[in-house]
Amino acid sequence: MFFFSKPQKNISLYNTLTRKKEDFKPIKNGEVKFYQCGPTVYWTQHIGNLRAMVLSDFMRRTLSYLGYKVTFVRNYTDVGHLTSDSDIGEDKMEKAVKREGGNPKEIADKYIKIFENDTKNLNILEPDSKPRATEYVKDIIEAVKILMEKGYAYSTDLAIYFDISKANDYTKLSGQNLEENKSGAGNANIEDSQKKNPADFALWFFKAGKHEKALQYWPSPFDSLLVKNGEGFPGWHIECSIMIKKLLGKTIDVHMGGIEHIPVHHTNEIAQSEALNNVPLANYWLHNEWLIVNGGKMAKSEGSSYSLSEIKEKGFNPLVLRYFFMQAHYRSKQNFTWEALQGANSGYEHLKNQVKELGGKIGKVDKNFKDKFEKIIGDDFNIPQALALFQEILKSDIPKENKLATIYDFNKIFGLDLKKELHSPVAVSDEIIKLAEERKLAR
Ligand SMILES: [Zn+2]
Repeated sequence: MFFFSKPQKNISLYNTLTRKKEDFKPIKNGEVKFYQCGPTVYWTQHIGNLRAMVLSDFMRRTLSYLGYKVTFVRNYTDVGHLTSDSDIGEDKMEKAVKREGGNPKEIADKYIKIFENDTKNLNILEPDSKPRATEYVKDIIEAVKILMEKGYAYSTDLAIYFDISKANDYTKLSGQNLEENKSGAGNANIEDSQKKNPADFALWFFKAGKHEKALQYWPSPFDSLLVKNGEGFPGWHIECSIMIKKLLGKTIDVHMGGIEHIPVHHTNEIAQSEALNNVPLANYWLHNEWLIVNGGKMAKSEGSSYSLSEIKEKGFNPLVLRYFFMQAHYRSKQNFTWEALQGANSGYEHLKNQVKELGGKIGKVDKNFKDKFEKIIGDDFNIPQALALFQEILKSDIPKENKLATIYDFNKIFGLDLKKELHSPVAVSDEIIKLAEERKLAR
């Protein structure tokens, strides 16, 4: 995106697959093919999911900053994702239809719109592609056919499954012991007695059994005694494998997602993609940790799975949330509290005032600070430490205009809109003042 012609700087990444930090080497010199598993668009995404989107944005901007040409794809799951990641439960899109009426397409459109409004508010760059699973059903069917022909998949009356005993080192990403961790890989055999291994996962669900009334279905060349024309819908995991192959290629450089995807979703993506293509799916697997709320897991039932609109309703600029996410490394859990967000608000406002005091003249980017910065962000995207460098710059004795140039340069990764905010007066809402007062009282 920036600096196409410049040589690339070094970066080391923690690779879940090898469980160590490695020097990044792209497949094609100077280019990065980057895929992130996107949201299932049946509900408003909570700020924990949005954190993952901000984190991938930092990664993508860092890679661009360091001189790589990044192609970034993030999908929308609009079919096939059941309430449990391991093929158990209701279809999430159908659950939303039951809740709100309409049809799956309308549900998907609605929540994609909300999501894209949120990502825009958070200053997250648009992906190069944002495919929907339902647009790739033909390609998915083609791939399942090949997996059947190659002997990796088998059919029951209810579904076509991937036979994990045929996979090459099925648990290599997670290192889990399937015998000990049945809940991890799924024990959906309860729902289909014809399944060979409990952890076999569905590539295609027939419109039969509990999915007899499926709202989204397509004809397929697969046989089941219970349906005509092989009617059904794709499983969740296969969609990512196919969209990756179609949009980025058989092997990509970086695959990213939340740590919850390691034992099931990403493990299954690897198994089926490698069976299909005979080459590794991704060279670097990056996983972000979770956002917790008040020290515990975010839960809808407790009203703690906040959305961005709730943050805005309390009077916070969405970029305060972005600034808050900068304060924890992507491989660390981060604890969200309203007090912590209030703290981020003060930090962000303070920084903007400091930048304002530098005046409007832009000098040269300071080389020493830039070297330092590149080393920090090149060390597995250490954004919290990179942010701390701002205060070092501000306290240093380099000329004001060079301070400003350096801060603007680093802000290409941070995306804090420091320039835009520079001349607009800051409106502090009553809610924020109230929170600040409560905080004072609590001390
Ligand atoms: Zn995925």
